[in-house]
Amino acid sequence: MKFRGGYNIHLKGKPDGAVKVMPEPAILHLPLSSERFTFSDIQVQDGQKVHAGDALAKDPDNHGVPLLAPRAGTVRLKVAENHIVLEDVAQLEERADITEAQLLHVEKQMGVSGKKRIQLLSLGAWQFFYDAFTGALPDPLGTPQAVIVSTLSLEPYLTRGDAQLQKRLLNFTRGLEHLQSLLEYQPIYLVMPDITSEFATLVRNQIRGYAWAKMLEIPLTYPYDNFAILARKLGLRSHGGPVWAVRTEGVLAADRALTLTKPCTVRIISIGGIGVNAPTHLKVMPGYPLKTIKEHYVSEPAVRVISGGILTGETLADGALGIDTECRGITVLPELQEREFLGFIRPGWNRRCYSPSYLSALRMPFSERLTTALRGEGRPCVACNYCEEVCPAGIMPYLIHKYLYADLIEEVEQARVDLCVECGLCSYVCPSKIDLQTQLIDAKALIEKEKEEIRQEQLRQEEARKQEEARKQSEEKTE
Ligand code: SF4
Ligand code: SF4
Repeated sequence: MKFRGGYNIHLKGKPDGAVKVMPEPAILHLPLSSERFTFSDIQVQDGQKVHAGDALAKDPDNHGVPLLAPRAGTVRLKVAENHIVLEDVAQLEERADITEAQLLHVEKQMGVSGKKRIQLLSLGAWQFFYDAFTGALPDPLGTPQAVIVSTLSLEPYLTRGDAQLQKRLLNFTRGLEHLQSLLEYQPIYLVMPDITSEFATLVRNQIRGYAWAKMLEIPLTYPYDNFAILARKLGLRSHGGPVWAVRTEGVLAADRALTLTKPCTVRIISIGGIGVNAPTHLKVMPGYPLKTIKEHYVSEPAVRVISGGILTGETLADGALGIDTECRGITVLPELQEREFLGFIRPGWNRRCYSPSYLSALRMPFSERLTTALRGEGRPCVACNYCEEVCPAGIMPYLIHKYLYADLIEEVEQARVDLCVECGLCSYVCPSKIDLQTQLIDAKALIEKEKEEIRQEQLRQEEARKQEEARKQSEEKTE
């Protein structure tokens, strides 16, 4: 499979392959929103005692995906804004928030596949599924044209697939079988690294017997593991129906939900970046106090904490108290405000530069210390073309930037801004410090909004036309 663009950023602070179990918390702060979800439909009362696995809230705009209680405890709704707090947390027997009788009823109504899908949704496994083209949560009762399963995570500092698979290879293959049981003839593409390692060979051997799983070996270059890029490379088109996409943790969650009928509330997340004293992976649950994680892993006083990886993650707001339900990793960078002398051209022995024109190009590949220091001000585009070279979507970010500057929205659309997969590489390599990624994301949202407004207007006009016709017909009848 041939890809275009892409670039590997070598940074210090990469998490090792180990998984550390964090101490049991006494309190959990469960955020009511995450990247895709807003849990606005609260299911519990203040002061209520809950079991582990009970639904605390649901997202009504995302097929009712639940926020599950990871532990037993007492609910507090008014202690922290935008959080449900669980006090007196206890590690007791967890339970499914759906009874056997309810599942039997669903099975009678919707068949075995329908029952499994509801089970995935109510036990918290469905939240690990994505629509490959949009990144949204797919309809659990929908039919995909294909499923992409990725064991890779190539963005710097994010949870590594091999760390999650350790000792759980059997659960993974059983999870794949469960996924296959939801489908009729649709293929499952299993994305693997094109490298020979003992572990990769073990996975390959395990999968070899599955005729329905098509192995897809890809180079370890960011962002070739991006689901939209993979779907396009496979020749799948969005008008052919949704493509479900799921990573290692989602397959393991599907196994837990469907083999054990147990809620999926524990996660393995990475903690990386040079602000971390021992970058690694942590076994935690949503709501786990960020303060405790910082106390254990962050040594520097002034740091920026990012939920996610270095290119696509979001800086955590000051009010964030616990791990949110979609967190895949935490990145911590020392917060430095000063500018570096001639920083924008990245000269010197210790600065990696996309353009191999400085001293560092003479060195063997090395990992750089990345901080939040400003490396020079933004300046006009110098037409170096680096952003186009690295773009995996085959578009011209600098051209779109120029159209946006001139407010030429139609031209932006014609330049196929919709193909941008928001990987952030263009911003990273731009020597002029132009935040192309944000500009393109905003432009996509603006065009989508305008299209939606036009759609709504057309619907309104159609409705008015129908009403007018009905009125005329009724007048004619009366006459
Ligand atoms: S334009 Fe979009 S897809 Fe291309 S490099 Fe930039 S963020 Fe990535
Ligand atoms: S990388 Fe930056 S300076 Fe170079 S062409 Fe793209 S926008 Fe212009």
